[in-house]
Parts: sequence; structure tokens; C-alpha cells
Amino acid sequence: MKIIAFEEHFSLRELANIRRDYMNRIQLPIREKAGGMSNIGRLLSDFEEIRLPEMDRYGITRQVLATGSPGIQGLTDPCEAVWLAAYANDFLGEQIRRHPDRFSGLAALPLQDPPAAARELERSVLELGLSGAMVHGHTNGLYLDHPSVWCVWERAAALNVPIYIHPTDPIPGQWKIYEGYPELLSAAWNWGIETGTHALRVIFSGLFDEFPTAKLIVGHMGELIPYALWRLEHQYKQLIHGDSLLEMPTGKRMIKQLPSRYIRNNLYITTSGNLSAPALRCAIESIGADRILFAADYPFEKNAPAVDFIRTVAIAEQDREKIAWRNAEKLLKII
Ligand code: MN
Repeated sequence: MKIIAFEEHFSLRELANIRRDYMNRIQLPIREKAGGMSNIGRLLSDFEEIRLPEMDRYGITRQVLATGSPGIQGLTDPCEAVWLAAYANDFLGEQIRRHPDRFSGLAALPLQDPPAAARELERSVLELGLSGAMVHGHTNGLYLDHPSVWCVWERAAALNVPIYIHPTDPIPGQWKIYEGYPELLSAAWNWGIETGTHALRVIFSGLFDEFPTAKLIVGHMGELIPYALWRLEHQYKQLIHGDSLLEMPTGKRMIKQLPSRYIRNNLYITTSGNLSAPALRCAIESIGADRILFAADYPFEKNAPAVDFIRTVAIAEQDREKIAWRNAEKLLKII
């Protein structure tokens, strides 16, 4: 069985420096281990010595590559963001040219300057052969539902490529609920809440009414959305029918369909870093096997257990093939 892994990371020296400055700025309420990124850093910057042999060993046909977090979203200066995003995308395009049958790529977007981000997306797809974009959460507090960013969605829809929202930390000032509980930070819990909420902002913004073919991807088995879908929809119906205790503010833009319509038509999720059989079966029942893509989240997670999971988890064989590679081939336009 072919396996395409959809949320796999790389880095280059210039991006590693962004992370250092970003960590100083966000005031994460726990310290990062000294040198904690050193081995990961080595794996992120490698393509041929460790990465490709590992892919061969575990039967990973193709990795869809994107920068690690925070990537370009960690910058504050728009000019620097525009320049460095182009530099990173050129670099990624070069890796894909070296191994076109093993690597695909998602572009970094300098959303500090949305029109420039739209142009960079188009250049990355048409000139560099990239297959969409990955955005590491909010860009200095700007989320992807903001009207200033719709030009990027318009371009993505016209190019028929997806935008992947990768987790990041909340904006400063939203840490209170995690105080004293470092166990809940990052991948354990708060990235899921942050990223799931970000995706729901996009869905409830009405963006998919404007651009019905736009495609949004989130990782980690859907950042809690498949499990929460029934209640989300139930409460939304009550709100719009006036049966809720809450009142919809006048002038608020309303979506034309129920949220589940967009979640089943415009949203894809990946299995990155979440090897739970019950969670996968919930996602299949909740949003459908056509909307799920395999991902390992290398090198932050290991390839071996991720591949073992998708090969052996108790699901229908037809669904396994869709999730392991068929859905990804369609999205990447591999014939
Ligand atoms: Mn990741």
C-alpha cells in the first residue's frame, strides 16, 4: 500500500533563528529544555541522509513538506517575512526538484502582508511546483478569517490548492487558564484548542460561501472538531432559530449552510501525532473517510508507529486506502 504523509517538517538555518526570537517574545509559561531542539534541528534540516532512508524503511512513498512552527508566522517585520518566505519556498522547491517522486511541499506565507502572501502562494504553486500552503496559526494575532486575508483564500481557491493551519501558541494574554499546569501546554492540549478554534473562526466567517472550492486542512485528527461536531451544530441551530439563551448580534455575517456542510465539504483533517483508533473511527463516522489524510508529523513524532497505525488500525480496507494515499493524491493532483 502506498503511504503519503501530509504534515512533515523541514527547516533551514535562517528559520531556526526565528524560533529563538519567537520563544523569547511569547513568554511561554514554561521553559524549553536547554538544547532540546538540537537533535530535532538536525533531522529537520536533513533530506537525503536520514529522511529518505527512513521513508524507504517504513514504506512512506511521499512526504508533503512544510516548515516547522512558528516558521514565517514568528516574524513581526513584514519585509523580512516576505523575503524569508520566498527564500524558504525557493529552498523547498529545490528539494522537490531533486526528488519529485518523493517530496511535495506546502508554501510558507508572509501573512504580515496579505497581498504579498497571495502573490507568494501563486508563485510557489505555479513556478516552484508547491501544492498549497501551511500557516502556523495566527500571525501576530491575525487569524485566517480576517477580511484582510481573504485575498489569500481567493488565490488559493483559484489555484485549487489547500491551506493547512498548523498549531501554534495562543496570543500573549490568553495563558491564564493554563497557569500552573504545564502538562496542558503545547501538543498535549492547548494547541488543539487554539487550532480547532482558529479553523472554526474560518468556517463561521462565511469565507466558504464566498469561495466554495477553498480547502482548509487541520492536523491531529481534526483538532477536536469531529468529536465536538454534533454539539456545535445543535447549538448553532438553536442560536439561529432563536431557541438559545444567547442572542446573535445584529449585523453579524451568517453562514448560508449548517456548519457540518462546510466541515464535510471544505475541511480535511490529518492523523498527525494522534494514533488513536477510537479517534480515527469517530472522525470517519463524523466527517467521512474522504476527508482524512495520513500524516506522521516527522520529525516531531516518529515514522514507525504512525505507519504501523495506518497499516493495522481496525477500519474498512477501502477507508484505509483513502486515508493512506488516495485522498492525498487527489489533493496533490498526482495522476
Ligand atoms: Mn506538525
